[in-house]
Amino acid sequence: MNHQGILVVVSGFSGAGKGTLMKELLKRYDNYALSISATTRAPREGETDGKEYFFVTKEQFEKMRDERKLVEYAQYVNNYYGTPKEYVEQKMAEGKDVILEIEIQGALKVKEKYPDALMLFLVPPDAQTLKERLVGRGTETADVIHDRLERAAQEAQEMGSYEYIIVNDDLDTCVKQVHELIQSAHCKKSHNTAFIKELQQDMNCFLKGE
Ligand code: ADP
Ligand code: 5GP
Repeated sequence: MNHQGILVVVSGFSGAGKGTLMKELLKRYDNYALSISATTRAPREGETDGKEYFFVTKEQFEKMRDERKLVEYAQYVNNYYGTPKEYVEQKMAEGKDVILEIEIQGALKVKEKYPDALMLFLVPPDAQTLKERLVGRGTETADVIHDRLERAAQEAQEMGSYEYIIVNDDLDTCVKQVHELIQSAHCKKSHNTAFIKELQQDMNCFLKGE
């Protein structure tokens, strides 16, 4: 089957549980590589440069953007966020499935550049749960939580652009569901063009040799 990894885009409202889902996926399965984005936002408590994000200044970010070192970028609630290109291409070539945990504007740009990318949108069971998760995380002020909920309401209007909507209610179920979707995507014929050709040739040669 195919040796090139596939690109998986995971978006979802802030607080839906994207970060939590990623951690579990990486812990349980070994074929996933999580892209580390560059951002101009300040690190949260416990976040380290080069682990959750590359924390950069606005000038550094604009330089990366201008030198075309980003697959995509977007502005989200007053900060820039972008996906460094080199890591994504290298890991896919190594056969890893690369996960981009990014917001919707950037996700749509990725889909334009990589039409075979698997597009997943993570949601909470309901709005109240979302607010409770954001408040419970304790990493943002009430004002920022308000901005993020507003942004989530806008994003709710746009989630029809995604192929799959995943409800993060029970975490374990959600992790298994996402893993199965990615594994199924490997069977798509568009991810197996080289293998299909090889098999066709092999069948022909085999019959001729009989
Ligand atoms: P995101 O990365 O989408 O902004 P997080 O992964 O930071 O969201 O999750 C937001 C909060 O919700 C965290 O405190 C996390 O522990 C909690 N959380 C995530 N998934 C679940 C779940 N399935 N059930 C209960 N709490 C969850
Ligand atoms: P947070 O500040 O909560 O870490 O992230 C805010 C939003 O930015 C989330 O929706 C997250 O998915 C998104 N994001 C993180 N990295 C990137 C990126 O590289 N590109 C884009 N377009 N969005 C990103």
